[in-house]
Amino acid sequence: MGKALIIGCGGVASVVIHKCCQNSEVFEEIMIASRTKSKCDKLKEKLSGGKTKISTAQVNADNVDELIALINSFKPDIVINVALPYQDLTIMDACLACKVDYLDTANYEPEDTAKFEYSWQWAYRERFEKAGITAVLGCGFDPGVTGVFTAYAAKHYFDEINYLDILDCNAGDHGYPFATNFNPEINIREVSANGSYIEDGKWVETKPMEIKRVYNFPEIGEKDMYLLHHEELESLAINIKGIKRIRFFMTFGQSYLTHLKCLENVGMTSIKPINYNGMEIVPLQFLKAVLPDPASLGPRTVGKTNIGCIMQGKKDGKDVKYYVYNVCDHQECYKEVESQAISYTTGVPAMIGAMMVLTGKWKKPGVFNVEEFDPDPFMDALNKWGLPWKETFDPELVD
Ligand code: NDP
Repeated sequence: MGKALIIGCGGVASVVIHKCCQNSEVFEEIMIASRTKSKCDKLKEKLSGGKTKISTAQVNADNVDELIALINSFKPDIVINVALPYQDLTIMDACLACKVDYLDTANYEPEDTAKFEYSWQWAYRERFEKAGITAVLGCGFDPGVTGVFTAYAAKHYFDEINYLDILDCNAGDHGYPFATNFNPEINIREVSANGSYIEDGKWVETKPMEIKRVYNFPEIGEKDMYLLHHEELESLAINIKGIKRIRFFMTFGQSYLTHLKCLENVGMTSIKPINYNGMEIVPLQFLKAVLPDPASLGPRTVGKTNIGCIMQGKKDGKDVKYYVYNVCDHQECYKEVESQAISYTTGVPAMIGAMMVLTGKWKKPGVFNVEEFDPDPFMDALNKWGLPWKETFDPELVD
């Protein structure tokens, strides 16, 4: 059916590539293009036996001209951006120049400022519309499936959703004293930033990890979780009718938090360049270099993740409560695609989102967040492609 150019070849990309190859009816041909071509070649070698035709290329995705040349030579139907958030705008620029659809899993973040918001990418709306191409923003799990879950609930069970809590629990254990389960630089920037949530249309800011709750997660048990700022709050507060309050919580163990605090206290999480032996280095980038590569955690991570959305609102004048979630097992993911569950739960939705665009189900000109599309075919595809979901109308609520 179609051709996809996949940019990046890290933990998440590896899952996207495995899943595209499993889905060869839709992904007849893929190109893996990244900064380090040897990683792309290694995956190509491993997956070449299947029906999906695979080629590889070296690309610096910070360079729009290089991207345009690559897109013009491969002529993909969609570009799946699973490099880093720093590359979102250059890749969108190249897609615009070549009139090719675009999908990513994380919103743009300038490299020198730890700040992420949709304004930079929403500014492309009119240009994508005029060019007649689709951009799907934030199509991993959170953001991504969490937006689809909310849209599904809004479509089928609510007239209005007033309270939305997104709960992200990783109860996996990789056996290291400290490691992050996706790109360490992006992960640490996210969790060391101030927290925030939206109440009555306004952002309320908190200190990092200031708000803590304990939640009894289905199939996992009780875990400490902390309120974080997260990008989907921004789009869901606009796109979902009736929202009064929206919050995002993520679980962290005490050892992770103690290590993080210590690294912060000694300046290792700073993104301000320093001079070291005549060389300019960014402490957080150096820290990334000494931490375990998240892509290597797969074989050693055991346990489960549970990510989902709890909603309260009204249908036909009556109060409704609803919880929809996915539970994913790290070792099962490893058996299937040699990745841990965090990469898996991000990579599978990215493949599904690209399939939605290629099959015309999510194809309309402009720049969209996932909750702006029909959730039903995506929800069906989650069950089929490895992320089955469960629902309950009687959930424990978060106070
Ligand atoms: P990794 O660091 O494992 O992989 C990033 C890849 O991008 C690497 O292969 C890297 O190349 C490549 N890359 C980086 N810079 C460039 C560049 N300038 N040009 C070309 N390639 C480049 O990250 P992850 O796989 O963990 O994360 C990928 C994305 O997924 C991130 O944007 C992250 O924020 C997002 N994410 C989203 C989640 C969600 O649920 N929505 C959850 C988790 C992650 P090299 O191999 O040379 O380093």
